[in-house]
Amino acid sequence: GEISGFIEVFSDITEQKAREDALYRSATRDSLTGVFNRGHFIEMANMEIDRARRFAEPLSVAMFDIDHFKGFNDTQGHQAGDACLRQVARVIADATTSTTALAARYGGEEFVIVMPETDLHVAGMVAERLRRSIAGEPFAVEKGGKRITVTISIGLATLERKGEQVADVLKRADNALYRAKHDGRNRVVSAAA
Ligand code: GH3
Ligand code: MG
Ligand code: MG
Repeated sequence: GEISGFIEVFSDITEQKAREDALYRSATRDSLTGVFNRGHFIEMANMEIDRARRFAEPLSVAMFDIDHFKGFNDTQGHQAGDACLRQVARVIADATTSTTALAARYGGEEFVIVMPETDLHVAGMVAERLRRSIAGEPFAVEKGGKRITVTISIGLATLERKGEQVADVLKRADNALYRAKHDGRNRVVSAAA
């Protein structure tokens, strides 16, 4: 019944950890732009909505769509289109990294941001700043080194009724985005409360 010795076993899990990190990354990120993907966004946004409810805080969502992007692809080429998407994603991600906001690529040339603790008024200011910085950014087009600009339209909505999920708020943001397009693009429209 006496301990006569013991054996310690060590193993280096650096590689395993790196594999797990890479797997997590590919499951949560969009491969073209590196920002969060739609699935991860929905999951995180719903968690934020639960939190906002619990603490009776506001929460807003912005939905972005690049204006006339089909034309951009047609004139500049699909590769330049991809580079443009990466650059738009970078601007959006940079604007949100040091905040509680979470940005994601929602679909082809559509991006979304969930902004916890943010009412519609403040969300409007954030969105307007983003709209302006993208419109003012020259987008590098590889062909001939020509630089052109692109614009985005933004629809905003805020959490309202009890029991709402992110899909409900996104639906209103999408309606507002539709109006932003209809009213002439390169603008921010907030869904009526
Ligand atoms: P609107 O201002 O009304 O939004 O016009 P639009 O041309 O941007 O809208 P539409 O939905 O007709 O076109 C979206 C285009 O986005 C079409 C598609 O070729 C392009 N697109 C979607 N995903 C990608 C992508 O991953 N890479 C590239 N290069 N283009 C993409
Ligand atoms: Mg679109
Ligand atoms: Mg578009």
